[in-house]
Amino acid sequence: MKERSNQNLKHEPVPLAIVGGGAAGMFAAAVAAERKVGCLVFERKVRLGAKMLMTANGRCNFTKDISPEAFLRDLGDPVAEWAAPALRNCPPQAIVRGVRSLGVKLRRMPDGRMFPDSGQAATVVHAFGDLLRDEGVPLCVNCPVTGIQPMKNGFIVATERFTLWAKNVLVATGGLSFPKTGSVGDGQDFARRLGHRIEPCRAGLTGLEVRDRAVAAQAGARFDDGEARVLDATGRTVFSSTGEVDCEAWGLSGAAVYNCQRWVARHGYAGMSMEVSFGGQSVLLRQLLPRPLKEAIVTVGGVSREDVDPATMMSRKVPGLYFSGEVLDVDGPTGGYNLTLAFATARAAVVSVQSRLRDGGAW
Ligand SMILES: Cc1cc2nc3c(=O)[nH]c(=O)nc-3n(C[C@H](O)[C@H](O)[C@H](O)COP(=O)(O)OP(=O)(O)OC[C@H]3O[C@@H](n4cnc5c(N)ncnc54)[C@H](O)[C@@H]3O)c2cc1C
Repeated sequence: MKERSNQNLKHEPVPLAIVGGGAAGMFAAAVAAERKVGCLVFERKVRLGAKMLMTANGRCNFTKDISPEAFLRDLGDPVAEWAAPALRNCPPQAIVRGVRSLGVKLRRMPDGRMFPDSGQAATVVHAFGDLLRDEGVPLCVNCPVTGIQPMKNGFIVATERFTLWAKNVLVATGGLSFPKTGSVGDGQDFARRLGHRIEPCRAGLTGLEVRDRAVAAQAGARFDDGEARVLDATGRTVFSSTGEVDCEAWGLSGAAVYNCQRWVARHGYAGMSMEVSFGGQSVLLRQLLPRPLKEAIVTVGGVSREDVDPATMMSRKVPGLYFSGEVLDVDGPTGGYNLTLAFATARAAVVSVQSRLRDGGAW
């Protein structure tokens, strides 16, 4: 067999190393491919997008087709104000166009929630995988990154087996829930070691434990027209959400409960109680006991928004280092908001990397 000469190969840095091949990492790689930004993806697991496969009970509610302003209103502050530039540059409509352009047939629910028509999250994950294959994006799967070291001329990205020289690094390692999907908090550790503040990570969009025989007796029942209300110490309603309420052997779950729980996780549990109504009955939860973070749909907390430029997703501490997706202290309600945030923050990072490379970067 004829040996290929490698004498013309130069030792050059990769323009962009993407750490994490979940929702944010795959979207970032797709945007990079479209914009001809050379990149490589490192993924801890053997396949990309393990958590995305679980979304919406395996159906993948990948965005909510509403105006950017309505989307930001639903996010609520402090997240909305920070996420606004990224979201306005990558609104739900752009995500819908992008996913459709991958050949995925879509289904829109009356409230704007978007799903693949197949009813299978795998359709979306495979469409991203096919694009990255067709574009020749190198994927290092089964390859957890163990360290990110800034240098004068870029970064050394370390794995257990080898190191890579990269001009820019995007950390898209996700939150801390469902660690079996690969998101175990590595990105928060890298960020901390590189001088970033980390907001405490806690469960968001999770059920609440209830010691109530009537609830336990109805375990398995689902009520589509439920309502949950967060009450402050004076009994005033400070947040409410309508929609599904489910009875579980351990308590209450469902979208209405999740959205109220997330609101409390963000604003503080002290003095808060919750009233949950479903099927003509009402339960007052004086003590709010969320299910563990490992079972949560989203992580509240992560890399401090103050340490990341919201226009570019670049670290304010380490030039050339970027963060996207759930690794950030950014989250939204149920209904396609969290994947949208992962996609929009990923796009913002790649657009910034592209202009940084064009301008010659800092070195
Ligand atoms: C049960 C469930 C249902 C959900 N349903 C929805 C929904 O319907 N709609 C919605 O919008 N959101 C939903 N979400 C939330 C959504 O899935 C996440 O917010 C989103 O996946 C976050 O994207 P991410 O890329 O930041 O993180 P992830 O998708 O978690 O990806 C992070 C990736 O980084 C990899 N990684 C971690 N550390 C390393 C390392 N050191 N080296 C290399 N790779 C690493 C991980 O293996 C993982 O693949 C749901 C979440 C859950 C758990």
